[in-house]
Amino acid sequence: MKEFSFIIAAGGKGTRFGGKKQFMTLGDRELWRWSAENAAKLSDSIREIVLVIPKGETLTPQWNNNIPLRIVHGGNERAESVLNGLNMAACDYVMVHDAARPFASPELFRRLIDSVNDDAGVIPLLPVSDALKRIDDEGKISSVDREGLFITQTPQVFPRLKLIEAVKDSPSAKDEAESWLKSGHELRYVDGERLNFKATVKDDMTIARALSEQKIIRTGLGWDIHRLVPDRKLILGGVRIDSPLGLLGHSDADVLTHAIMDAILGGAGLPDIGNIFPASDERFRGADSVNLLREVMRLVAAEGWSVEFVDAVITAQVPRLNKYREEIMRNLSEFFPVNIKFKSAENLDDSGRGLCITCHAVATLGKVIERC
Ligand code: MG
Repeated sequence: MKEFSFIIAAGGKGTRFGGKKQFMTLGDRELWRWSAENAAKLSDSIREIVLVIPKGETLTPQWNNNIPLRIVHGGNERAESVLNGLNMAACDYVMVHDAARPFASPELFRRLIDSVNDDAGVIPLLPVSDALKRIDDEGKISSVDREGLFITQTPQVFPRLKLIEAVKDSPSAKDEAESWLKSGHELRYVDGERLNFKATVKDDMTIARALSEQKIIRTGLGWDIHRLVPDRKLILGGVRIDSPLGLLGHSDADVLTHAIMDAILGGAGLPDIGNIFPASDERFRGADSVNLLREVMRLVAAEGWSVEFVDAVITAQVPRLNKYREEIMRNLSEFFPVNIKFKSAENLDDSGRGLCITCHAVATLGKVIERC
């Protein structure tokens, strides 16, 4: 079984970008971490991450992963930086990757790992899809045939000791594949990935940011009903309503908060509140439903969901609730953007006869698409 050191070249000065983008935040983490965490998912093959940081920088990143992270300083040029990483690496094979390519997939890593051997390095290539032009010294434009031309990506994968010799021999090479070829070694390729682009200029970061924030959107539906009775408090959305009648239930019978919780749980594909907070459980007797909502928010967040918006309709003949609308929405806005509406039931069904209050709620949930 071949073992690999994953070397992240993050030693650049970011000249074209106008700053050290490799330590900028993309989504919830620095740019270099995206590929480091991706690599760590292939723990059967990748045994360590070697992060090459700019010369003179100090960096002690938090790294909670089974795969060790080792830090080494870079040099003045890419070749010198990569060489420092190669010298620190411990495995027989290396994958050298640009920190500024956050979206290289584990599938690409796997293709590369499967293709390398003691004699042949492997790189990802993408066919050039744009028409190409050349401008000569006099400013004259001519067309370049793109047939047979490819864009080179990383990670680039090689046997470590042979690559060290090759990089030493070509100190001005633009990438490791160039050094490798100059040394006369065999080079193979696998298909690259369009999303594995390099964030070279600020506009690339704008695209990367949009990709990192792409979400799956789901909608959940909740409904609840509670009987209106004397000698009970009436609480809606955690707000005490002035009323001679209140709602009957095991908890505080907050029909609005209950419908909202079921809508949120539904959107996240989780069971309803009856399953999570059973009426048979004495801990929930007289419970403040807003505290239960806090627990629901924790449960869905643990699954990666955020609640983007909640809309609800409360159907009640009595009491009149419109004057509480702002207060209820303010109270629930601690958790999510929310809109509440009220309907009387035209004296028709049981809520229309003042026997109960019902509530319908829909919740929109979002989850950032995992690109790692
Ligand atoms: Mg209920």
